Amino acid sequence: MASILIPVGILGGIALFFGIFLVISAEKFKVTMDERVEKLIDVLPGIDCGACGAPGCSAFAEGVTKGEYPVNGCKAGGEEVATAVAEIMGVEAEVGGEEVAVLRCLGGTDVAKRVADYNGIKTCAALHLLGGDKGCQYGCLGLNDCVEACPFDALVMGEDGLPYVIEERCTACGVCVGTCPRELFEIISKKQDIYLACRSYDDAKTVKQVCSRGCIGCSLCTRVTLGETVTMDGNLASVHWDKIDDNSILKPALEKCPTKTYIKRSELRGFKNA
Ligand code: SF4
Ligand code: SF4
Repeated sequence: MASILIPVGILGGIALFFGIFLVISAEKFKVTMDERVEKLIDVLPGIDCGACGAPGCSAFAEGVTKGEYPVNGCKAGGEEVATAVAEIMGVEAEVGGEEVAVLRCLGGTDVAKRVADYNGIKTCAALHLLGGDKGCQYGCLGLNDCVEACPFDALVMGEDGLPYVIEERCTACGVCVGTCPRELFEIISKKQDIYLACRSYDDAKTVKQVCSRGCIGCSLCTRVTLGETVTMDGNLASVHWDKIDDNSILKPALEKCPTKTYIKRSELRGFKNA
């Protein structure tokens, strides 16, 4: 009997020791979940779109509590979510989307010359690899890659074969910027109403042969605007909004550009198919 009790007693002692050890360890090393994280998760959209830069809403919530993301960083949630997040964090939120995507191309089917018939895979990425089907090597290919990639349904393909931004939905997440193989999207300040809608670096002769609305690099816009607000980058004009912050400075460029390559965002709003 004693020969059984001894090993049982030893095992019991070991079990007790490890039990106490585990309880102490759990108490000592327990991860205290910041209760704000749970509250934040509750107010976030929960769609894990990644537009904020975090891999998902939970990661964003945790990052906000650690100061890694701003309280207004949830692009999908807009003002409502930013305000709720700020309230939980006990701070003031700067709300109201400040930026929007614009397409820097006016080469629709009625404007840009088509030089080839393409019957391959219907994506801009594939067509771009083959050089495109338009004469302009910089212009929009119109096969919807951006429209399909936009996580907020903020892009719609127009009848002219160019995508249009529905500004009310655009969160300036930049997915279209990274998607377009021709780098035709730019995120700009909503204050900037006038912008240059072209990215062609070709010379005037080449541009005129392939598109009636492309920048021909004449530099007139640099001369009718103040100081260094518009400069030339090779054959392409370059607008420095950070030095302007005022649409009236760009108005002469809008009016004088011989190819009407400057356009007003406000005139694109209310796109009829939106
Ligand atoms: S903007 Fe770019 S991604 Fe969108 S349709 Fe044109 S080429 Fe394709
Ligand atoms: S993908 Fe482009 S158009 Fe769509 S929401 Fe993001 S920035 Fe706006």
